[in-house]
Amino acid sequence: MTGVDVAEPADAREGLARVRRYGIKEVFPTLQGEGAQAGTPAVFLRFAGCNLGLEVCPWCDTDWARADHVIDADGTLQLVEGAAVEGFGSERPGLLVVVTGGEPSLQFDAPLSVALRARGYRIAMESNGSRPVDRTLVDWLTISPKQPDFIQREGDELKLLFMGGSTPGLTPDVETVRRITADTEFAHYFLQPVDLPGRGPNYAEVIQAVMELGPPWRLSVQTHKVTGIR
Ligand code: SF4
Repeated sequence: MTGVDVAEPADAREGLARVRRYGIKEVFPTLQGEGAQAGTPAVFLRFAGCNLGLEVCPWCDTDWARADHVIDADGTLQLVEGAAVEGFGSERPGLLVVVTGGEPSLQFDAPLSVALRARGYRIAMESNGSRPVDRTLVDWLTISPKQPDFIQREGDELKLLFMGGSTPGLTPDVETVRRITADTEFAHYFLQPVDLPGRGPNYAEVIQAVMELGPPWRLSVQTHKVTGIR
């Protein structure tokens, strides 16, 4: 499957746009499952569209291809508010909104950032790093690269899938991990298993790799899968 770039809405391309619209897959309340903020209550705002796709990430288990909502910033804010009330009883000051995808940097922009922050939300973005991210728009930036020459090389956390010997792909060994992350600057470095259908996550390979790499690398456990939360 080819990646879908929805950065330019159709009405903008036609020169008719007065209001920016966003293609959104789903919005739901949960706990952040991965990385340094694992366990944190959050609303997930999942954008449709990805610029990489299954040719680059054949193991991708995220349904991002079709937008279930095509709405403006106010409509998006209403979805987030609805999810906050559904999950936590009300909007909570400082509640985390995890902006993900697909690839969220294709669509997330200043008007949406301003609208969310005006309601008191903190914003965390999870990007594949293939495009530069304006860090002033977010309060936390996670980069999970899928290509060796990823563009966005600084942020709050780097979350790298480790293929090891069991899965073809970007990171067959620790030397490759060292090489592709050599000139990066993140506050946290995580190595995460690849979870394949019928096989499960390759934790043994990842644990061995983290032992070899040493600090600052840490094991990322997908706690939402372990605990059964969404
Ligand atoms: S970048 Fe992420 S969402 Fe896009 S295809 Fe790869 S794993 Fe899936």
